[in-house]
Amino acid sequence: MKEIIFAATRSDTIIAELKRRILENGAVLPGGVLRVDSFLNQQIDMKLMRDIGAAFAARFHLFHPDIVLTIESSGIVPAGQAALALEVPLVICKKQASRITQAELYETNVQSFTKGTSYELSVSKAFLMPGARVLFIDDFLAMGEAALGACRLIEQAGASLAGIGIVIEKTFQPGRSKLDSLGRPIFSLARISSMSEAGITWAE
Ligand code: 5GP
Repeated sequence: MKEIIFAATRSDTIIAELKRRILENGAVLPGGVLRVDSFLNQQIDMKLMRDIGAAFAARFHLFHPDIVLTIESSGIVPAGQAALALEVPLVICKKQASRITQAELYETNVQSFTKGTSYELSVSKAFLMPGARVLFIDDFLAMGEAALGACRLIEQAGASLAGIGIVIEKTFQPGRSKLDSLGRPIFSLARISSMSEAGITWAE
């Protein structure tokens, strides 16, 4: 708890550091994709992830989440750090076919913006319990389809959504407006309103 209160006082510094890393190490690819392989998606800056997890915990601890839910693979590290700070389990939705039977899974189909395909998102019924208060955390919010897929799994389980935490939101894509209709708190650390090879503009 002491650490969560400390993180709340440092949230602005943590957001400033994340934005600095995006400007210094991010690469804008054609088609509105931001590459952050050097600190978030492939090589991972664990100190930054620890701080990001603490900032999410500071924002959401008063909603008393029972679990943090994320999607493999790039949501796992920031979501895991948030779960650690909140002292709750991390549960991972899978994109790959699972070896357990379909009867043991909640499943939904999701369109992927980055890959231009669709995939089956699933989570074991054993880990998403009816009545659980679920904090969903992911690395990016773009079209909102991944987050909406996770929300459908939460609904199938009879659990409830406590909030949504996003590391990088692209506000020029429609994800936020789709998620707003859920009526739950959404907290994005870095919000990009436009980006090109010439530079990145932050949303207010
Ligand atoms: P959405 O369903 O909101 O379009 O996309 C969510 C997922 O797509 C995220 O979990 C993330 O893995 C991936 N994604 C979307 N946009 C970007 C991007 O600009 N850069 C990277 N690296 N991943 C992205």
